[in-house]
Amino acid sequence: MKHEPILPGLKPAMMPWDFIRLRREAAGVSIPELARRLDDVPEHRADVERNLRIWESPGVRLKLYLLETVNRRGFPIDIEIYRQLCEDPVDHHPTLCTGCACSVWTPCTTRDGAECRHEEDGTCTACKEKAERRTTRRAA
Ligand SMILES: [Zn+2]
Ligand SMILES: [Zn+2]
Repeated sequence: MKHEPILPGLKPAMMPWDFIRLRREAAGVSIPELARRLDDVPEHRADVERNLRIWESPGVRLKLYLLETVNRRGFPIDIEIYRQLCEDPVDHHPTLCTGCACSVWTPCTTRDGAECRHEEDGTCTACKEKAERRTTRRAA
C-alpha cells in the first residue's frame, strides 16, 4: 500500500535514520534494551549495540530483513514508510510527526485513549500533550 502525504511539502524531509530513532524512542526502547531483544547471547551485546547506533547514523539504510527482525522482536516499525523515506522523492513522503514519527496509519494513543492527530506545525497531539506536561512540571 502506498502512503501518500496528507500535508505535502509542509515540513523538512524525515530521513530513514531519524525515523528508526524516533520510532524506537516512541516505543520507549533504549539501544541496550533493543540489543537484548534482538540477540539473546550476552557475549554479542556490545557488538549489537554498536551496530544499532550505526543504524541511526546519517546515510545508513537498513536491509529489509533487518527491519522485519526489528518489527518482530524490537518495536513496531512501518517498513513501507521506511522504504518510502529511502526511495521516494521528498514531496511524496508520508506525513510523519516530527516528534515521534507516527503517521495516520500508525497513530499514538493520547492520554485519554484517543488516536493522535497531526497538527499544522508538524507534531502530533500526543507529542504536544507530552510537551505541555513537561512545561507544566517545570513551572510547578
Ligand atoms: Zn508525535
Ligand atoms: Zn502521534
